[in-house]
Amino acid sequence: MQEEGYIKFNVNNDFKQNNINDIVIRDINKVRKYLKDKGLIGYDGNANVSFGNISHRILGNTFVITSTNTGKYRFLRKQELSLVYDFDIKRNSISSNGMKLPSSETLSHVAIYLANQNVNAVIHIHSEYLWTKYFNVISSIGEEFLYGTTELSEQIFKKVSSENKSKGIILFKGHENGLIVFAEDIFSAKQIIDSYF
Ligand SMILES: [Zn+2]
Repeated sequence: MQEEGYIKFNVNNDFKQNNINDIVIRDINKVRKYLKDKGLIGYDGNANVSFGNISHRILGNTFVITSTNTGKYRFLRKQELSLVYDFDIKRNSISSNGMKLPSSETLSHVAIYLANQNVNAVIHIHSEYLWTKYFNVISSIGEEFLYGTTELSEQIFKKVSSENKSKGIILFKGHENGLIVFAEDIFSAKQIIDSYF
């Protein structure tokens, strides 16, 4: 498994408590608990890494994303969530507000939000079952594009822009067991995941 905790991008984080809305936190936790129970998001004790992440657009290009190394928590509070309010894909950099650093895969989420303004939720999961079953079946990003790179974000942006869909699923061939799902809202994103099992 590739390291999820290793941050390759430049983060300008303030390490201050954010003020994320309770309803947003509740919705993220509802969906996250379901995915965590299915093993699609969580913590790999053998490799000592967290995997998977969830984000939710607030307004414009500001969004909430699960913070890094939070896979083991059963329930996420404000302290385990990051508010991302500025970013630059080309420079591989983001600005965020929160007690912890945002997920190391934040720029993949950025790419999708930028590509389609109707997308309001993005979920990155790990599933050996889905990854194997759909490897050459569903929309995918080539194996030459590695996790956490600027090139990967640019490929995601291109794909989501060109397909012009506000919901969908993409398989990362270069990120073992990795898939990303996006939709107009977080519950629809969860439904898309279910529909592939
Ligand atoms: Zn991953």
